[in-house]
Amino acid sequence: MFQNILSLYGLDPQKTTVLQFGDGLINHTWKVNTDKENYILQKVNSDVFKSPAAIDQNLTLLRNYLSKENPEYLFISPVIAINGESLLHIENGYYRLFPFVEGSVSLNTLTKKEEAYEAAKQFGKFSKILDGFNVNELNITIPNFHNLALRFDQFKTACNGASAARLEKSQDSIKFINDHQDIVDTYQEILNNSAIPLRVIHHDTKISNILFDDQNKGLCVIDLDTVMPGYFISDVGDMMRTYLSAVSEEETDFSKIHIRKDFYKAIFDGYMGEMNDVLSEAEKPYFIYAGKFIIYMQAIRFLSDYLQNDIYYGAKYEDHNFNRANNQIELLKQYLKIEAELINL
Ligand code: ATP
Ligand code: MG
Repeated sequence: MFQNILSLYGLDPQKTTVLQFGDGLINHTWKVNTDKENYILQKVNSDVFKSPAAIDQNLTLLRNYLSKENPEYLFISPVIAINGESLLHIENGYYRLFPFVEGSVSLNTLTKKEEAYEAAKQFGKFSKILDGFNVNELNITIPNFHNLALRFDQFKTACNGASAARLEKSQDSIKFINDHQDIVDTYQEILNNSAIPLRVIHHDTKISNILFDDQNKGLCVIDLDTVMPGYFISDVGDMMRTYLSAVSEEETDFSKIHIRKDFYKAIFDGYMGEMNDVLSEAEKPYFIYAGKFIIYMQAIRFLSDYLQNDIYYGAKYEDHNFNRANNQIELLKQYLKIEAELINL
């Protein structure tokens, strides 16, 4: 099969090697080494992305815009095959090829605040240079991805349909979620505020979606499947959720969950260094809210899944999603506790 794909890009299968690559969880990723350029080959996960063609169209629109407006920006867009297409449909799978960014490294965990700064700068820069792009032209690749009001409704439905045992066990967590509904109200307020625009937002700002150079400087953003119209709080909040704590949502010893204040400052400085002149005065006060928005939403999603018998995320052990939900609740508690301090850093 690889032979077939490679020849569709004009690559000689005799002169190439294809090896599985990276730790991506969603798509299948391979590195393609040739005697000239090297590439990343990906099979799109069409269970998650129902319309790979919609993603491909987005990437083409952005590439065309940037090649005119900002040609020096490192935008990793798919290679165009001999047939003129940048997405190939082969044997029920969707494939695309990217140029491999030579000398780049990606990180799976974030240990230094400087790395958080570099990543935030790259995600900020991405939205900044696309500020002039008409965001309404983009396809929505995952509908309602960060629609907190809908996630909250789905949580209510999950509570109503849950088994007595799971409901009983989740009582305290459900109470916490219900006691913090003001976070949903603030989301509605943002939605209703015409001074807060939809922007080109990455929507998956985990650290492994940044390529760094050998000096630990950010080179570019990758993994553009979730790029779609959104609010800036999505990217900022996703960074807070995944960069502030030294341990991830998988940690079950909640005493290890702490907010690294210097990492908050690094996210702020990195992102606002790029976006300060782009964000309106109506948007800026919501920077601190971004963390609450995404952490709360993730807690809701894990708890809803637990209440619905782990149908979405699956569970590697009993109570997996229950623990993940409470991990995120703990993270949110820690965040709320020092909110005033964070604002004044
Ligand atoms: P995720 O689990 O984040 O959703 P994914 O399955 O969508 O990941 P990517 O993030 O696109 O996959 O790629 C997986 C890994 O492959 C990246 O973390 C990075 O290490 C590497 N990678 C992807 N594209 C490139 C590229 N153009 N140049 C060099 N390395 C790359
Ligand atoms: Mg990725």
